[in-house]
Amino acid sequence: MSTAQMLNRRMDFRSDTVTQPTEGMYQAMLSAPLGDDVYADDPTVNRLEAVVADMTGKQNALFVSSGTQSNLIALLTHLHRGEEFLAGSEYHVISYEAGGSSALGGAIACGLPTAANGQISISEMLGAIKQDDSHFPMTKLLSLENTVSGRVQPYRYMHDITAAARKAGLQLHLDGARLMNAVVASGTSLQDYANLFDTVSLCLSKGLGAPFGSVLVGPSDFIKRARRLRKMLGGGLRQAGIAAAAGLYALEHHVERLAEDHQLARQLAEALNQHADAVVDLDAVETNMVFLTLPADRGLKLQAALAEQDIIISGPSLYSEVSTFRLVTHLDCSPLAVEKLADAVKQFLAH
Ligand SMILES: *Cc1c(COP(=O)(O)O)cnc(C)c1O
Repeated sequence: MSTAQMLNRRMDFRSDTVTQPTEGMYQAMLSAPLGDDVYADDPTVNRLEAVVADMTGKQNALFVSSGTQSNLIALLTHLHRGEEFLAGSEYHVISYEAGGSSALGGAIACGLPTAANGQISISEMLGAIKQDDSHFPMTKLLSLENTVSGRVQPYRYMHDITAAARKAGLQLHLDGARLMNAVVASGTSLQDYANLFDTVSLCLSKGLGAPFGSVLVGPSDFIKRARRLRKMLGGGLRQAGIAAAAGLYALEHHVERLAEDHQLARQLAEALNQHADAVVDLDAVETNMVFLTLPADRGLKLQAALAEQDIIISGPSLYSEVSTFRLVTHLDCSPLAVEKLADAVKQFLAH
């Protein structure tokens, strides 16, 4: 590990996006052949796009700067102004992307009730499809997510809901920001998941540990139109191979190891659960996220107390009586750091 990396390495459980490139990843970035990707002649970007298209069994792929940009481009390519997409109201496309598809593309979002396991019901999904009537937007797309807040969406459920949506004439998009976590945790293959959808977005900068970048995959004519939108949105990057090299390295070296993040999350959940005031639903810990619930009055001071020990966590979501904290494990978490976090929470609760 370089000195810069050691200085930068804190015990940071806010997200799996906080990771620093590893030495091997830096080497891959340094030695990557580069070109100008707006002219489509950056060999490293072209290789990443070919690799991800192949891995997912899709015709073509587009390297984009973020997961938000990937979903935005996908939605705007699927939908015309005044057309509607269905998604869980808790899903990232509806709740955490600044309303981009509506603000910039006139696409209408219809949010459906999302169960604790991340699923939406098939009957509610079908019930939300509008009739062809001049009062209503035209429902054209179902957008799903996997994982949802760390919960794996099982193949059987995804198969059944996408089959029902397709039968009803909808197009299908998957926000697979953390799809690799679902693949590693469930044993369902990437291609089996991807086959259910027209388009899939994958993040390289979450658990996979690249500094930035996502890949959108789909049919060739779709990706051709998506490429124009990427340029329109200011996402045409030049020597982008420097980032694509990190993505390729991540796909080669950081997929199987996601199991370690999942193991650490379980270790953390079990340690926290021993304390009477801490509530963790162990069955909900399927990948790299742990949700810790404390009585609201205790929860308000936890973040500051941990910060004093150089342990960084996100602030709580507040529901009347309780505070819920999302704790995320990743490439830069060690078993020791997880132990320290669990001990620090227990110490805090003891006072
Ligand atoms: C992080 C995330 C995104 C967006 O990715 P950014 O690179 O942060 O824009 C989209 N969907 C889900 C489910 C995510 O977790």
